[in-house]
Amino acid sequence: MTSTPAQPTPAGVDAVVPFTVEALDIRGRVINMGPVLNSILARHQYPGPVNKLLSKAIVLTAMLGSTLKFEGRLTLQAQSDGAVSMLVVDFNAPDGLRAMAQFDAAKVADVASQDGFKPDHLLGKGHLAFTIDQGAHTSRYQGIVVLDGTTLEEAAHEYFQKSEQIPTLLRLGVAEMLTKSEEGGADHSWTAGGIMVQFLPQSPDRMKQADIHPGDAPEGHEHHAMDEDDAWIEARSLAETVKDDELTDPNLTVEGLLYRLFHEHGASVYTPQNVSDKCSCSAEKITAMIQSFSEEDKTEMKAEGMVHIKCDFCSMDYELDANKVFKD
Ligand SMILES: [Zn+2]
Repeated sequence: MTSTPAQPTPAGVDAVVPFTVEALDIRGRVINMGPVLNSILARHQYPGPVNKLLSKAIVLTAMLGSTLKFEGRLTLQAQSDGAVSMLVVDFNAPDGLRAMAQFDAAKVADVASQDGFKPDHLLGKGHLAFTIDQGAHTSRYQGIVVLDGTTLEEAAHEYFQKSEQIPTLLRLGVAEMLTKSEEGGADHSWTAGGIMVQFLPQSPDRMKQADIHPGDAPEGHEHHAMDEDDAWIEARSLAETVKDDELTDPNLTVEGLLYRLFHEHGASVYTPQNVSDKCSCSAEKITAMIQSFSEEDKTEMKAEGMVHIKCDFCSMDYELDANKVFKD
């Protein structure tokens, strides 16, 4: 039994849809992204493999960020020695998303041509930081995960296990769509989706979970195996059956996906939260930034007259008159 939300929520509408499955004590979120994702990616003109990785990071950030109330920002920032050296996605509550990447194009092409390529392979060794800034009245929170061949899903699992200690399962999918263009060629577009499931029983006792595998821990390091709760084991194994193409299928609605996964237990779906392509840059912020430059830089800019600054996120061009900005 699936309850009916106020409005139908067809897939691919750039929205995060919260849901619960009470019988299994889980709450979750499903996201589908299409037009908003394409408008963010189109502005950058990154190579396909970078778009794939960035799309996964965008749906992950949107799912996590959409839990922020009213104001605040969630930033996902990866730095690595891999083909993609930096990747930043910001979610600005209530709905703004922006994203950018820095990469070595030759390395990207090389990594992407290898057998069994996954977009996550573009990140080498480094770290991934999840930063939550909930505005002036709360302190900033940052959780950092080490990257070493780690997928974004694995990094997110580790983040939840370390920081919130909530058993969490996350799946992300991205697909490149080819449609026939009016000129007879092919139009490329992107679609991405994700699902996040969290176990939140009344009794915190039931939330104990198996340790993360100790990895390179020295020999003799004890791996504490714990018995996980049956409801969580079932919820997780059901959510794990999601196929990548189900997360990116424009014909599969959120209700359809949840029905397929949880019909035996019943899922309740709540009001979708839209996401939008919205940068937080402004002429004021750019002005404040260049005012913090060194005197030497300022003198140089004054000599040039007009200063051109391009936003790394949205590619907006700002043209400022240095003699006005530094008139004092
Ligand atoms: Zn911008």
